[in-house]
Amino acid sequence: MNKNSSNTMALAPNTSNKRETVCIFGTGDFGRALGHKMIQCGYPVVYGSRSTQISNLIPKDAEVLGHAEAAQKAAIIIIAIQRQHYNFLTPLAEVLRGKVLVDISNNLKLNQYPESNAEYLAQLLPGSKVVKAFNTVSAWALQSGTLDASRQVFVCGDDVEAKQMVMNIVRALGLTPLDKGSLLAAQEIENYPLQLFPMWKFPIFLSLGLTAFFFLYCLALDIIYTYIYENNNFSFFIAITIPNRVCPVMALILLALVYLPGIFAAIIQLYRGTKYRRFPDWLDKWMLCRKQLGLVALAFASLHVVFTLVTPMRAFVSWRTGKGIISQALNNKTEPLNHTNAWISDSYLALGILGYFLFVLLGITSLPSVSNNVNWREFRFVQSKLGYLALILCTAHTLVYGGKWFLSPSAYKWYLPNIYILSLIVPCAVLVVKFVLIFPCVDKPLTKIRQGWERNPKYSE
Ligand code: NAP
Repeated sequence: MNKNSSNTMALAPNTSNKRETVCIFGTGDFGRALGHKMIQCGYPVVYGSRSTQISNLIPKDAEVLGHAEAAQKAAIIIIAIQRQHYNFLTPLAEVLRGKVLVDISNNLKLNQYPESNAEYLAQLLPGSKVVKAFNTVSAWALQSGTLDASRQVFVCGDDVEAKQMVMNIVRALGLTPLDKGSLLAAQEIENYPLQLFPMWKFPIFLSLGLTAFFFLYCLALDIIYTYIYENNNFSFFIAITIPNRVCPVMALILLALVYLPGIFAAIIQLYRGTKYRRFPDWLDKWMLCRKQLGLVALAFASLHVVFTLVTPMRAFVSWRTGKGIISQALNNKTEPLNHTNAWISDSYLALGILGYFLFVLLGITSLPSVSNNVNWREFRFVQSKLGYLALILCTAHTLVYGGKWFLSPSAYKWYLPNIYILSLIVPCAVLVVKFVLIFPCVDKPLTKIRQGWERNPKYSE
């Protein structure tokens, strides 16, 4: 079909509302919901069922026939039956020859069978044209009309014309077809509804593990230690003080972990002298979830901001301030302003504010609605250059905060470092190695490798 004719078709008024009959095998939940929607959209529907008795649940205007009889009435047959029953279709091979069979099935587990259900159906009925579609839409959403979150319907199949026919039905139902190519894509499409936030698993588990570790670490040093050795009960630190220690530590470490895989990738490429060899699986997976790690880090940083803003409202803080004022009054002596301390506290706050601002900018530009509106170079500029700047500012914020206590013995209760010292290990390592990587003697070969140069080319001319 040429381009003009398709345009003309799109603009031409619809002179005939008559739609082709569609056959649905199976009067189960999905078969009924899809049939109901199709009838609403003007498709005559005929069901192929083991029982031709009409029940109240079946859409009113639909016909119910035996499988062979129903199949003869339509060119498209939707198989709304579980894969384990597909064997019953083999005796119908002749009736189904040349027909378009739409496989909508899902499995209970990822990669449950060696081949996808759609490929299995195509093997059982080689004379039919199998198309995979509709498996990402739920029967409930079809029936209730609440399709907002899942309007997209992945479609794949080896026969282009058959795929077009199915995509036309998808559009007519008010959904959006997305052509995923040949039937080889069916396995991926079938795995799709079984995934539960796949990219979030690693960041969430890592954050939970690290948060629990740092929380217990603070509990031991700030509450248990003070109780045992100083006889002070600071158990209320559990509510705000400890969370406000753990959140910035988590934000800084996770932000550094966003940039660490890039550092590993650069070292591996330099070592191998080529970019054409795959990274190890763990690194590939880590690189793919950098955005999620960054967003979790931003959530921790935001919590740190909120906890810090409520600090003046805390009873413990007002008590401590009051105690300071009273002790000055009792001694009849005003403490002079310590300019060094004033500089340290203002710089610490300023670095934190700037770091957080860039952190928010990174989060906003990673949202699809924003990232779709910037080109690749702009996106890289924000995520890489400004990202490193955010890491530098946040690391400096922590260094200035702890600066004068690093060498003080009171910062090492039970010979353990305070958690802000622990939080600096990964970011400082990332920044130091990144600093080495931007030296021209390292950067030049790395850039050459990334442009396709190889130290020991496999296919030399
Ligand atoms: P269901 O309610 O269990 O219905 C399956 C239908 O298959 C039955 O009603 C029956 O229809 C037919 N059937 C059962 N055993 C059979 C056999 N031995 N031989 C021939 N036909 C048999 O299942 P469903 O929820 O509608 O799901 C159907 C397919 O759609 C599944 O592959 C599922 O993965 C897929 N799907 C479902 C949803 C959903 O939200 N439910 C969403 C996406 C995809 P008759 O009694 O009329 O013969």
